Amino acid sequence: MKNIIIAIDGFSSTGKSTIAKLIAKKYGYIYVDSGAMYRAVTLFAKENDLVGKDFLKTKELISNLKNISLFFKSNIDLGFSEIYLNNKNVENQIRSLEISQLVSKVSAISEVRKKLVTEQQIMGQEKGLVMDGRDIGTVVFPNAELKLFMTASADKRAKRRYRELIDKGDTVRFEEILFNVQERDRIDSTRDDSPLMKANNAIEFDNSDMGINEQFKKICVLVENAIHEK
Ligand code: C5P
Repeated sequence: MKNIIIAIDGFSSTGKSTIAKLIAKKYGYIYVDSGAMYRAVTLFAKENDLVGKDFLKTKELISNLKNISLFFKSNIDLGFSEIYLNNKNVENQIRSLEISQLVSKVSAISEVRKKLVTEQQIMGQEKGLVMDGRDIGTVVFPNAELKLFMTASADKRAKRRYRELIDKGDTVRFEEILFNVQERDRIDSTRDDSPLMKANNAIEFDNSDMGINEQFKKICVLVENAIHEK
Protein backbone atom coordinates (compact mmCIF):
# COMPACT_ATOMS: atom_id res chain seq x y z
CA MET A 1 0.00 0.00 0.00
CA LYS A 2 1.28 3.46 -0.93
CA ASN A 3 2.09 5.77 1.98
CA ILE A 4 0.74 9.28 1.57
CA ILE A 5 0.73 12.63 3.35
CA ILE A 6 -2.63 13.90 4.60
CA ALA A 7 -2.72 17.64 5.30
CA ILE A 8 -5.62 18.92 7.40
CA ASP A 9 -5.99 22.67 7.70
CA GLY A 10 -8.79 24.87 8.87
CA PHE A 11 -10.16 27.29 11.42
CA SER A 12 -9.69 26.96 15.18
CA SER A 13 -11.59 24.21 16.96
CA THR A 14 -13.02 22.58 13.85
CA GLY A 15 -12.15 19.13 15.21
CA LYS A 16 -9.08 18.73 13.00
CA SER A 17 -7.06 16.87 15.59
CA THR A 18 -9.91 14.50 16.52
CA ILE A 19 -10.35 13.40 12.94
CA ALA A 20 -6.59 13.37 12.27
CA LYS A 21 -5.99 11.02 15.22
CA LEU A 22 -8.70 8.61 14.03
CA ILE A 23 -7.33 8.55 10.48
CA ALA A 24 -3.77 8.04 11.71
CA LYS A 25 -4.89 5.14 13.90
CA LYS A 26 -6.83 3.43 11.13
CA TYR A 27 -3.99 3.60 8.59
CA GLY A 28 -1.10 3.16 11.03
CA TYR A 29 0.15 6.64 10.18
CA ILE A 30 2.03 9.10 12.39
CA TYR A 31 -0.09 11.99 13.62
CA VAL A 32 1.53 15.39 14.12
CA ASP A 33 -0.33 18.26 15.79
CA SER A 34 1.55 21.25 14.37
CA GLY A 35 -0.51 23.63 16.54
CA ALA A 36 1.03 21.99 19.61
CA MET A 37 4.44 23.12 18.34
CA TYR A 38 3.34 26.78 18.04
CA ARG A 39 1.69 26.51 21.45
CA ALA A 40 4.88 25.11 23.01
CA VAL A 41 6.99 27.96 21.58
CA THR A 42 4.39 30.35 23.04
CA LEU A 43 4.64 28.67 26.44
CA PHE A 44 8.42 29.07 26.32
CA ALA A 45 7.99 32.76 25.41
CA LYS A 46 5.50 33.28 28.22
CA GLU A 47 7.68 31.57 30.81
CA ASN A 48 10.62 33.75 29.79
CA ASP A 49 8.63 37.01 29.78
CA LEU A 50 8.92 37.38 26.04
CA VAL A 51 5.19 37.57 25.43
CA GLY A 52 2.22 38.76 27.45
CA LYS A 53 -1.20 40.23 26.95
CA ASP A 54 0.17 43.63 25.87
CA PHE A 55 3.67 42.89 24.65
CA LEU A 56 5.76 40.70 22.38
CA LYS A 57 9.56 40.87 22.47
CA THR A 58 10.04 39.68 18.90
CA LYS A 59 13.82 40.18 18.67
CA GLU A 60 14.55 38.46 21.99
CA LEU A 61 12.28 35.58 21.12
CA ILE A 62 14.01 35.12 17.78
CA SER A 63 17.43 35.03 19.41
CA ASN A 64 16.10 32.47 21.92
CA LEU A 65 14.72 30.08 19.32
CA LYS A 66 17.96 28.10 19.42
CA ASN A 67 17.19 27.28 23.06
CA ILE A 68 13.87 25.65 22.20
CA SER A 69 13.84 21.94 21.57
CA LEU A 70 10.58 20.20 20.79
CA PHE A 71 9.77 16.55 20.33
CA PHE A 72 6.74 14.29 20.36
CA LYS A 73 6.72 11.13 22.42
CA SER A 74 4.08 8.45 22.10
CA ASN A 75 1.92 7.87 25.19
CA ILE A 76 0.77 4.26 24.87
CA ASP A 77 -2.02 4.68 27.46
CA LEU A 78 -3.55 7.67 25.70
CA GLY A 79 -2.93 6.24 22.23
CA PHE A 80 -1.32 9.40 20.87
CA SER A 81 1.86 11.47 21.15
CA GLU A 82 2.48 14.24 23.62
CA ILE A 83 4.68 17.26 23.09
CA TYR A 84 7.84 17.91 25.11
CA LEU A 85 9.42 21.34 25.45
CA ASN A 86 13.08 21.12 26.47
CA ASN A 87 12.50 17.58 27.77
CA LYS A 88 9.39 18.47 29.79
CA ASN A 89 5.94 17.17 28.95
CA VAL A 90 3.85 20.31 28.36
CA GLU A 91 0.83 18.72 26.69
CA ASN A 92 -1.60 20.03 29.34
CA GLN A 93 -0.07 23.44 29.88
CA ILE A 94 -0.20 24.39 26.20
CA ARG A 95 -3.99 23.87 26.02
CA SER A 96 -4.89 26.65 28.49
CA LEU A 97 -6.93 29.66 27.42
CA GLU A 98 -3.97 31.90 28.30
CA ILE A 99 -1.76 30.18 25.72
CA SER A 100 -4.63 30.26 23.18
CA GLN A 101 -4.80 34.02 23.71
CA LEU A 102 -1.09 34.52 22.96
CA VAL A 103 -0.29 31.88 20.34
CA SER A 104 -1.45 33.71 17.21
CA LYS A 105 0.86 36.64 17.98
CA VAL A 106 3.83 34.33 18.33
CA SER A 107 2.99 32.23 15.29
CA ALA A 108 2.91 35.31 13.06
CA ILE A 109 6.71 35.67 13.49
CA SER A 110 8.43 34.41 10.30
CA GLU A 111 11.50 33.06 12.13
CA VAL A 112 9.28 30.96 14.41
CA ARG A 113 7.47 29.58 11.37
CA LYS A 114 10.71 28.83 9.56
CA LYS A 115 12.05 26.76 12.45
CA LEU A 116 8.83 24.79 12.92
CA VAL A 117 8.13 24.25 9.21
CA THR A 118 11.63 22.78 8.77
CA GLU A 119 11.03 20.37 11.66
CA GLN A 120 7.60 19.43 10.28
CA GLN A 121 8.98 18.73 6.82
CA ILE A 122 11.61 16.40 8.29
CA MET A 123 8.83 14.44 10.07
CA GLY A 124 7.12 13.92 6.71
CA GLN A 125 10.12 12.61 4.80
CA GLU A 126 8.95 9.00 4.99
CA LYS A 127 5.29 9.92 4.34
CA GLY A 128 2.63 7.83 6.14
CA LEU A 129 1.73 10.97 8.08
CA VAL A 130 -1.32 13.03 9.03
CA MET A 131 -0.56 16.60 10.07
CA ASP A 132 -3.07 19.25 11.06
CA GLY A 133 -2.60 23.00 11.31
CA ARG A 134 -3.09 26.17 9.30
CA ASP A 135 -0.49 26.02 6.52
CA ILE A 136 0.09 22.30 6.04
CA GLY A 137 -1.42 22.01 2.56
CA THR A 138 -0.17 25.41 1.41
CA VAL A 139 3.37 25.67 2.81
CA VAL A 140 4.58 22.62 4.74
CA PHE A 141 3.48 19.92 2.27
CA PRO A 142 2.24 21.63 -0.90
CA ASN A 143 2.48 18.24 -2.67
CA ALA A 144 0.46 16.32 -0.07
CA GLU A 145 -1.61 13.61 -1.75
CA LEU A 146 -4.74 14.57 0.22
CA LYS A 147 -5.60 18.01 1.54
CA LEU A 148 -8.63 18.78 3.65
CA PHE A 149 -9.87 22.18 4.78
CA MET A 150 -12.18 22.08 7.80
CA THR A 151 -14.74 24.76 8.61
CA ALA A 152 -17.72 25.10 10.96
CA SER A 153 -19.70 28.02 12.37
CA ALA A 154 -17.89 30.06 15.04
CA ASP A 155 -20.64 29.32 17.53
CA LYS A 156 -20.37 25.54 17.09
CA ARG A 157 -16.58 25.70 17.33
CA ALA A 158 -16.61 27.81 20.48
CA LYS A 159 -19.12 25.42 22.08
CA ARG A 160 -16.82 22.47 21.38
CA ARG A 161 -13.75 24.23 22.80
CA TYR A 162 -15.74 25.44 25.83
CA ARG A 163 -16.85 21.85 26.57
CA GLU A 164 -13.28 20.57 26.30
CA LEU A 165 -11.95 23.14 28.77
CA ILE A 166 -14.85 22.73 31.22
CA ASP A 167 -14.45 18.93 31.11
CA LYS A 168 -10.78 19.41 31.99
CA GLY A 169 -11.80 21.45 35.02
CA ASP A 170 -10.78 24.91 33.73
CA THR A 171 -12.88 27.90 34.76
CA VAL A 172 -13.74 29.81 31.61
CA ARG A 173 -16.66 31.80 30.22
CA PHE A 174 -18.28 30.89 26.90
CA GLU A 175 -18.02 34.49 25.64
CA GLU A 176 -14.25 34.61 26.11
CA ILE A 177 -13.86 31.31 24.25
CA LEU A 178 -16.02 32.57 21.38
CA PHE A 179 -14.00 35.78 21.24
CA ASN A 180 -10.72 33.83 21.29
CA VAL A 181 -11.77 31.48 18.49
CA GLN A 182 -12.79 34.43 16.28
CA GLU A 183 -9.76 36.52 17.17
CA ARG A 184 -7.33 33.68 16.43
CA ASP A 185 -8.99 33.07 13.06
CA ARG A 186 -8.71 36.77 12.27
CA ILE A 187 -5.00 36.98 13.14
CA ASP A 188 -4.18 33.61 11.51
CA SER A 189 -5.96 34.54 8.27
CA THR A 190 -4.54 38.03 7.92
CA ARG A 191 -0.87 37.56 8.88
CA ASP A 192 1.72 38.21 6.16
CA ASP A 193 3.60 34.92 6.46
CA SER A 194 1.64 31.77 5.55
CA PRO A 195 -1.86 33.03 6.35
CA LEU A 196 -4.55 30.44 6.93
CA MET A 197 -6.21 29.76 3.58
CA LYS A 198 -7.62 26.88 1.65
CA ALA A 199 -5.10 25.36 -0.76
CA ASN A 200 -6.38 25.32 -4.36
CA ASN A 201 -6.69 21.56 -4.42
CA ALA A 202 -7.98 21.10 -0.85
CA ILE A 203 -11.37 19.53 -0.23
CA GLU A 204 -13.55 21.72 1.97
CA PHE A 205 -15.37 20.07 4.84
CA ASP A 206 -18.01 21.97 6.80
CA ASN A 207 -18.73 19.88 9.87
CA SER A 208 -21.09 22.29 11.67
CA ASP A 209 -23.84 19.67 11.47
CA MET A 210 -21.84 16.49 11.06
CA GLY A 211 -21.02 14.01 13.78
CA ILE A 212 -17.60 12.47 14.11
CA ASN A 213 -18.67 9.08 12.68
CA GLU A 214 -20.10 10.62 9.54
CA GLN A 215 -16.98 12.74 9.03
CA PHE A 216 -14.72 9.77 9.61
CA LYS A 217 -16.57 7.62 7.06
CA LYS A 218 -16.48 10.35 4.41
CA ILE A 219 -12.82 11.13 4.97
CA CYS A 220 -11.83 7.45 4.87
CA VAL A 221 -13.27 7.26 1.34
CA LEU A 222 -11.09 10.21 0.34
CA VAL A 223 -8.04 8.61 1.94
CA GLU A 224 -8.63 5.28 0.14
CA ASN A 225 -8.97 7.14 -3.17
CA ALA A 226 -5.77 9.07 -2.56
CA ILE A 227 -3.85 5.95 -1.54
CA HIS A 228 -4.92 4.03 -4.64
CA GLU A 229 -4.52 6.88 -7.09
CA LYS A 230 -1.68 6.29 -9.53
O1 C5P B 1 -4.31 23.95 16.10
P1 C5P B 1 -4.28 24.87 17.30
O2 C5P B 1 -5.58 25.56 17.52
O3 C5P B 1 -3.76 24.21 18.51
O4 C5P B 1 -3.22 25.98 16.88
C1 C5P B 1 -2.88 27.04 17.75
C2 C5P B 1 -2.38 28.23 16.95
O5 C5P B 1 -1.10 27.91 16.39
C3 C5P B 1 -3.23 28.70 15.80
O6 C5P B 1 -4.28 29.57 16.19
C4 C5P B 1 -2.21 29.42 14.92
O7 C5P B 1 -1.95 30.72 15.39
C5 C5P B 1 -0.94 28.59 15.15
N1 C5P B 1 -0.69 27.63 14.09
C6 C5P B 1 -0.09 28.06 12.92
N2 C5P B 1 0.25 27.17 11.96
C7 C5P B 1 0.00 25.86 12.10
C8 C5P B 1 -0.63 25.39 13.28
C9 C5P B 1 -0.99 26.30 14.25
O8 C5P B 1 0.14 29.25 12.77
N3 C5P B 1 0.38 25.01 11.14
